[in-house]
Amino acid sequence: MSPLLDVSNMRVRYRTAGRLASVVKRMDDPFIDAVCDVSFSLEAGQTLGLVGESGSGKSTIARALLGLKDIAEGSVRFDGRDLRSLDARSFNAVRRDMAMMWQDPVGSLSPRLTIKSLVTEPFRIHGREGRDLDEEAARLLTMVGLAPDFGARYPHQLSGGQARRVGVARALALDPKLVVADEPTAGLDVSVQAEVLNLLSDLQKRLGIAILVITHNLNVVRHITDRMAIMYLGRFVEQGPTQAIFDQPRHPYTEALLSANPEPDPDAAKARVELSGEVPSLRDRPRGCEFHTRCPHARDLCRTVAPTVTKDAAAHTFTCHFPLLPPQPSPR
Ligand code: SF4
Repeated sequence: MSPLLDVSNMRVRYRTAGRLASVVKRMDDPFIDAVCDVSFSLEAGQTLGLVGESGSGKSTIARALLGLKDIAEGSVRFDGRDLRSLDARSFNAVRRDMAMMWQDPVGSLSPRLTIKSLVTEPFRIHGREGRDLDEEAARLLTMVGLAPDFGARYPHQLSGGQARRVGVARALALDPKLVVADEPTAGLDVSVQAEVLNLLSDLQKRLGIAILVITHNLNVVRHITDRMAIMYLGRFVEQGPTQAIFDQPRHPYTEALLSANPEPDPDAAKARVELSGEVPSLRDRPRGCEFHTRCPHARDLCRTVAPTVTKDAAAHTFTCHFPLLPPQPSPR
């Protein structure tokens, strides 16, 4: 069976100068690649985490999937349809099966609308009037663990955790097949974070939806995702089953990110891997391996030749000339 979402070699570009300015300045290429050659797939009922520092391209992938940013190259198939070949009307019909959970649910909600209006707004936006909106609001609020009378409140009357639940209810209003969750726990206390992640996990199991989580919080990734992809300068440097990557990262950038993440079990804490230098500009990508300017394991080859993707038996891929070695069995 084909996956719900299948992305191959996706490239997304941003224009850095207007048409006139690029002619005046004689710029050959007034674009930068925010996302390069990214491939992944997501099955129904599965969760994939996109991880990386700010500016790594993870939010651009989400915007491109949702039709908010043009895709320059590659193919994106969703539920058997090639999104790039659809006209606007057909895309809008497919788009109803994709929902976005914004990072700041209160800030992204109109302060003048009641919670009932907000959770049922997708019905109005997508032309699905004719439903009993009181009933729908009560159903959605109950689904996310809020009492139906929350429908009469306004966003400023909600706690951070309640606002997230409203964001989840709104995202699920149209029974989507895919939810894109942008930093689903940002700004929440740790105990509330766990509640929101458990809610998402439970709903996913119950409803069979696929979730694409965008985050820099590795604890979120560990808690909720089946697979994860690590991004650097718009590329995937490593991708695979979440547990396998936490157990044994193969790319030095992943190793550094994981080593900076507080371990719940202090006995399992790893030595911190410090990265030198700054993240290079997308306008001036390093030659060879683009991570070589910061990599503690870089060698001469890395400075001139770009590494290719290696795949191991566990559908775990990494892009490195000298990947970190998996633990060797101890000699008897
Ligand atoms: Fe580091 Fe070289 Fe691997 Fe790049 S290819 S991540 S520089 S070891």
